[in-house]
Amino acid sequence: MKIRFWGVRGSIPTPPTDAVMRDKLRKALLQASPADISSEESIDRFIDSLPYSIRGTYGGNTTCLEVRTADDDIFIIDCGTGIRHLSAELMKEEFGRGQGIANILLTHTHWDHIQGIPFFVPFFVKGNRFHIYSPFSDIKERVEYQQVFTHFPVNLDSMLATKEFFILEKEAPFHLNNVTIINKRMRHPGGAFGYRIQEDGKSFVFTSDCEFNIDEIDQIDSYRDFFWNADVVVFDTQYTFEEAIDKIDWGHSSASIAIDIALRFNVKKLLLFHHEPSYSDEKLETVLSNARTYMSMSARRKGVLDIDIAREGVIIEL
Ligand SMILES: [Zn+2]
Ligand SMILES: [Zn+2]
Repeated sequence: MKIRFWGVRGSIPTPPTDAVMRDKLRKALLQASPADISSEESIDRFIDSLPYSIRGTYGGNTTCLEVRTADDDIFIIDCGTGIRHLSAELMKEEFGRGQGIANILLTHTHWDHIQGIPFFVPFFVKGNRFHIYSPFSDIKERVEYQQVFTHFPVNLDSMLATKEFFILEKEAPFHLNNVTIINKRMRHPGGAFGYRIQEDGKSFVFTSDCEFNIDEIDQIDSYRDFFWNADVVVFDTQYTFEEAIDKIDWGHSSASIAIDIALRFNVKKLLLFHHEPSYSDEKLETVLSNARTYMSMSARRKGVLDIDIAREGVIIEL
């Protein structure tokens, strides 16, 4: 299975400002020597040598992931603004000819997870077929409501692709070709669901938005089957440890909690996700390095868990 990140930011899109762009440019130029900028090749080498927070961005689009299975089935996880870039990519394929088929898994319907739907071009193309899954029994009404005339000029029905809604049984597996998908209810205002996708002995867990506070930790073993032995877990780490204490019941977690859970359940790789909108790329790099430090504080933990931070455009193959 192949997983691609199209949107990784939490809560609200965060396009880079003029000041952010200037700061990146300034930092890069301050580090450059005359030799670094003596030819096009040396400029490319120099750019590649810079920290990612200077040469790029972790991304400002809200949640959207694409999962392609070995059978080439497509699963889109959430429809935040990142779906606009996925949209352009899909339109180059059969979706541009009205012959595309894809599945959409929705975790919940907070704006940052559905706000890309009105701009998802494959929904406008007659002939495309989408199966939209969620354990929320009123999922169709929720998605339709975003596009009532007072909020958007085109309602969902006027987007000509076929869109079928399926209500998943809570915490029960469902199967599609060789893939098994299990949903798990997460603590989050209004509720949210994580998904575990399994294929050919590989498993991918996506859980955002989720709050693992003291109450959840008390019953942590009820999450064992959901996380157990996963190859990759994408986890909501919007807050630092201090912020998580300050913002109890806001519905998000921190990297230290994510690491504790990943270690407890034998996870192989953890990706920090749902980045706080106020965090700069530099701050996100600090979040990652602090997470790795926390992980290595105990010798027992060393090398057990691979930790990285999600960024737009990254592809992971399992
Ligand atoms: Zn969210
Ligand atoms: Zn949410």
